[in-house]
Amino acid sequence: MPILEINLRKIRHNAKLLKNLLAQRNVSIIGITKLVLGDPTIAMTLVQGGIEYLGDSRINNIIKMKKNNIRAQFVLIRIPSITEIPLVVKYANYSLNSELKTIRMLSNEAVKQKKIHNIILMVDMGDLREGINIFNIECFVEEILRLKNINLSGIGTNFKCFGGIIPTDENMNEFSKLVFGIKDKFELELEFVSGGNSANFNWFKSCKNIGEINNFRIGEAMFLGKETINYEPIPNLYTDAFKLITEIVELKQRSVIPKGIIVSNAFGESVQTYHNKNNNGKKSDIIRTQALLNIGRQDIAVKGLNPKESINILGASSDYLVVDIRDNQFQIGQKLHFDLNYEALLRAMTSPYIHKKFIDI
Ligand SMILES: *Cc1c(COP(=O)(O)O)cnc(C)c1O
Repeated sequence: MPILEINLRKIRHNAKLLKNLLAQRNVSIIGITKLVLGDPTIAMTLVQGGIEYLGDSRINNIIKMKKNNIRAQFVLIRIPSITEIPLVVKYANYSLNSELKTIRMLSNEAVKQKKIHNIILMVDMGDLREGINIFNIECFVEEILRLKNINLSGIGTNFKCFGGIIPTDENMNEFSKLVFGIKDKFELELEFVSGGNSANFNWFKSCKNIGEINNFRIGEAMFLGKETINYEPIPNLYTDAFKLITEIVELKQRSVIPKGIIVSNAFGESVQTYHNKNNNGKKSDIIRTQALLNIGRQDIAVKGLNPKESINILGASSDYLVVDIRDNQFQIGQKLHFDLNYEALLRAMTSPYIHKKFIDI
């Protein structure tokens, strides 16, 4: 079985460092656990690193963390489904919202459960995913403040998730100004003015004026140690807290040119282009040593794998990763190691066919 090795010490270090860095400018962190499916061991590690708020997009992940006694405040960061409202009120302390119908139903449910539910109102600043349109904000706030058992604890926005829009001084200042106007008009203290995600890191580092921002929701940067505009490593963070370990199951000398009539591969993709890419433009046949590894597209996003050994990834089917081992002298059963990007890690975490191995060294 392939192994995903998860270094808890490195994750704890990253969480602590980011938390302290943001705290220097009075900005809090909601640690986002959706990438690791709300894994309780990892959630616990974030809490040990000083993270007090954990956010996840799936209510099931929040339930899992709560049932495993993770001591944090939980934030549902996906707009709640109507069908999940009883669970949201029961298990999440906060949720991100943008629909009055849903917020009214959260209010009714909170009254029923004798709870206060906190909401963070999402505003779209141009990335075009979730959030109300800015010109509606006063009407929304007015209505929300009237609802029973609902506390408007924050206003948030999000970047670089759908439209690919990056945070800049211009859109961040516009957001701050909007929030300032609302705080002023309604005499509100907001626990969260949540300015975005890992894509805000560079802006945070370079901005002269942080404005009203007092929170970010951070996942990728904490786990993979990179900001998400240019994917540059963040100084002093580990970028290798996760490592994929696969095993060679077949080693054969093979021609680079498939023999017979070509249509397409198992996923309906053209094979010709994919082989040409690895052929250095040469038409004549080449023999290479090809290895099959015990992992495939069911488990991994192939493009997101970065091999630690000097090999070439040729492609993958559902169950095999096919690689050219170049000049290496590998054996059957030998382990090959990979770094993972966000998508590859998400798939690896989600695959039941990859063993999750925790280390703390
Ligand atoms: C996923 C998500 C985040 C965290 O994004 P990262 O890039 O992992 O930091 C923040 N906010 C919302 C609403 C999200 O869906």
